[in-house]
Amino acid sequence: IYILAIESSCDDTSAAVMQNDTTLSNVVATQKIHEEYGGVVPELASRAHQQHIVPVIHQALAKAKIDKNQLSAIAFTRGPGLLGSLLVGTSFAKSLSLGLGIPLIEVNHMQAHILAHFIKEEGSRNPVFPFLAMTISGGHTQIVLVRDYFEMEILGETLDDAVGEAFDKTAKIIGLPYPGGPLVDELAQKGNPRAFPFPKPKVKGLDFSFSGLKTSILYFIQRETAQNPDFIEQNKEDICASIQYTIVSILMDKLKKAVKQTGIKRVAIGGGVSANSGIRAALKKAEKDSGWQTYIPKFEYCTDNAAMIGIVGYLKYREATFADQGISAKARYDIP
Ligand code: ATP
Ligand code: FE
Repeated sequence: IYILAIESSCDDTSAAVMQNDTTLSNVVATQKIHEEYGGVVPELASRAHQQHIVPVIHQALAKAKIDKNQLSAIAFTRGPGLLGSLLVGTSFAKSLSLGLGIPLIEVNHMQAHILAHFIKEEGSRNPVFPFLAMTISGGHTQIVLVRDYFEMEILGETLDDAVGEAFDKTAKIIGLPYPGGPLVDELAQKGNPRAFPFPKPKVKGLDFSFSGLKTSILYFIQRETAQNPDFIEQNKEDICASIQYTIVSILMDKLKKAVKQTGIKRVAIGGGVSANSGIRAALKKAEKDSGWQTYIPKFEYCTDNAAMIGIVGYLKYREATFADQGISAKARYDIP
């Protein structure tokens, strides 16, 4: 089975070709234009998708050495995401499926961040059901109980900002360009995580909150720079290490709570922030110290990519779960 997958939910245009559960190609065009604005501008994003989508799909097919007539189905991201961006991928997928006369498969982006763990890779192991998945990305922060491929229950989520936003917004406060998450991570590795203690929010159950952290970092920086205008420059690495340390410990506290509550010690992470060195190290430590079995995605499957859409496409193809031409994109789309 060959499946062409298309992802266009935010600011990355991506296409992948899967052969069953194996990735033959996974091409991602990241939109640079948003850097100047310090965040994603929806109108510019959909225009850039329109420009990128044809070359990206061509590249994905060429790299996979697959002709479009060999394809068995087209999978696409239906949501959640920016409506204008989703529409580009959705319309393209629909017309391709119609033109080639092959089935169309709709995919929930957040489910895909989790099911990316089922892409077959050398040395990778598939999670065993049931397991816990923490999706940590630019728009979401959730702890999900995964009973089966398509049987998921959200146990907790953020009440305000997503963890990726917490990274990006605090990065902006200290003058780093968008998206700041990866830069904070890089600087944090050279700093002292205990240099500046930031308070952790008190949130009930398995829910999260990150807006308070952003505010306390903002006030802290304002206070310090009032006394020393060079404070940020002189302490950048320690500030980043302290921010990352606080965020990672907020995430780990809730994960530990979820493990205790469910008795499930199999834990996966997914989404852009799962590329973070701090959370990856914390999970490996929990594996050693607490007997968890952890699943950490390859870097290429952390941030947005079409291979994760393709694996869901394959899993749905096996069950013959297809969409019809009347389907439309959904900006808000909870894990079904
Ligand atoms: P969603 O998946 O919720 O719709 P999204 O698709 O925009 O949101 P992703 O592409 O999954 O988000 O993740 C992007 C986020 O991941 C950004 O906020 C980015 O800063 C963050 N990120 C990427 N790498 C790292 C890293 N190494 N450390 C911290 N954050 C990171
Ligand atoms: Fe995403």
